[in-house]
Amino acid sequence: MSAAQWRSHDMGDWRLAFQLRTLDALQAQLQRLNIELFIVDAPEFSDVPGALTDLCKRLRVDALETIDEYPLNERLRDNAVEQALLEIGVQVNRHVADVLVEPGVLKTGSGGPYTVFTPFYKKWRERAENAANQTCAVPQPQARFELPVVEQENQVPVEVDGVDRSLGESLWPAGEEVAQQLLDTFITTRAERYPDDRDLPSLAGTSGLSAHLAVGSISARQCVSAALRASMHDTQAADGLQKWVSEIAWRDFYRHIVAQFDHVNKGAAFRREKDHLPWRHAPDELQAWQQGVTGYPLVDAAMRQLNETGWMHNRLRMIAAMFLTKHLLIDWRAGERYFMHKLVDGDFASNNGGWQWSASTGTDAAPYFRIFNPTSQGTKFDRGGAFTTQYVPELSGLDAKYMFEPHKAGVTFYPAPIVDHQFARVGPISVQVLEPLQK
Ligand code: FAD
Repeated sequence: MSAAQWRSHDMGDWRLAFQLRTLDALQAQLQRLNIELFIVDAPEFSDVPGALTDLCKRLRVDALETIDEYPLNERLRDNAVEQALLEIGVQVNRHVADVLVEPGVLKTGSGGPYTVFTPFYKKWRERAENAANQTCAVPQPQARFELPVVEQENQVPVEVDGVDRSLGESLWPAGEEVAQQLLDTFITTRAERYPDDRDLPSLAGTSGLSAHLAVGSISARQCVSAALRASMHDTQAADGLQKWVSEIAWRDFYRHIVAQFDHVNKGAAFRREKDHLPWRHAPDELQAWQQGVTGYPLVDAAMRQLNETGWMHNRLRMIAAMFLTKHLLIDWRAGERYFMHKLVDGDFASNNGGWQWSASTGTDAAPYFRIFNPTSQGTKFDRGGAFTTQYVPELSGLDAKYMFEPHKAGVTFYPAPIVDHQFARVGPISVQVLEPLQK
């Protein structure tokens, strides 16, 4: 556990509580196999090599099996652990299990990494099918044996300062069994309609697996493997499953980006030239966005969903992110940080990738003038306002034609829009001419 480091990476209570509950579930599962779970507290990543060296010595460990993670700090940590353990004669076996295809393996025609998703996906898909078949067998129950006592680390449940592990318990039950059930439900009941339903926030049309994928209670490989198996005998669902696998490919893609472009890990725009955009310093507007009181019902419903449940629907993540960066012209990093702080599935690579895509500073960047209109997105993806009124209940009962423009109905119980959509069309560069901007 590296709670201080996680906190310094903006990981918030929803995800930390989910992570603690996942550890509880893992411990119970391992106990049934007579396998002991040791939780070592190493507050910063730099403490991890020393803590593991110490533990390996005390338990007389011969070999350590680890799964590679790809953000820069994690890579540096894992290299340092490998070095430290080799020095005391412990073999380190590093595995590729967080992605289907290892970063660095896929290369463009000119030998570099892919920075555009579609050609990446074509190459990825060929290899992913093989990788999906390579899952490890579930361990069998072990013979009982006495380990040297390591009292301190062996006290579970562990705590993280200030985190109530029951936060979100009913919304986000944890553990591998729950994750497998979600996967099964998705494949048997939702996959067929996924291409249509995935964009409608009022429906449970997606898998809901992101938090489990983020903490590792299920792997992307297990998901793809199950999807490929199902699509062989369920031809009705095959298209939906293929679409779903392509979304999982985005997860791999963003992991390849953080693994191969160090500057992205250091708060810089993927497109370095975009680091000079004159973002506005507008704390009141940032706060209105965070609290879901922008006067744009779909954006507000999205932000309130995030605040109340720790999760936000994918389409709404794009709409909310574009609203912050292209309507309010606030730096994407402020939004990235807020999402990370609130999301139960907060994941550096996917969050950074999603934010930079939305802000047009990242890979596959949409040109900055491609902006989702939060009003027409509402009529298109939440016609009738079922989702919007769930989180902005004060709009229930409003004539449907005003659902996404309540100011036109002259309502006084809901804020007027804090910015005009037309303003967003100007784009952050031209806005410099309209008003003085502070960094
Ligand atoms: P499903 O539709 O069932 O997809 C299955 C899995 O595929 C997801 O669980 C996820 O692991 C992966 N996936 C799907 N879409 C994407 C995508 N666009 N990028 C990367 N992986 C994807 N996802 C996170 O897991 N953590 C984040 O912190 C995160 N932040 C985001 C921020 C922004 C601004 C945007 C636009 C997207 C972000 N996403 C993030 C991606 C996506 O919104 C979520 O993965 C998805 O909503 C999770 O719901 P689900 O599990 O039901 O998805």
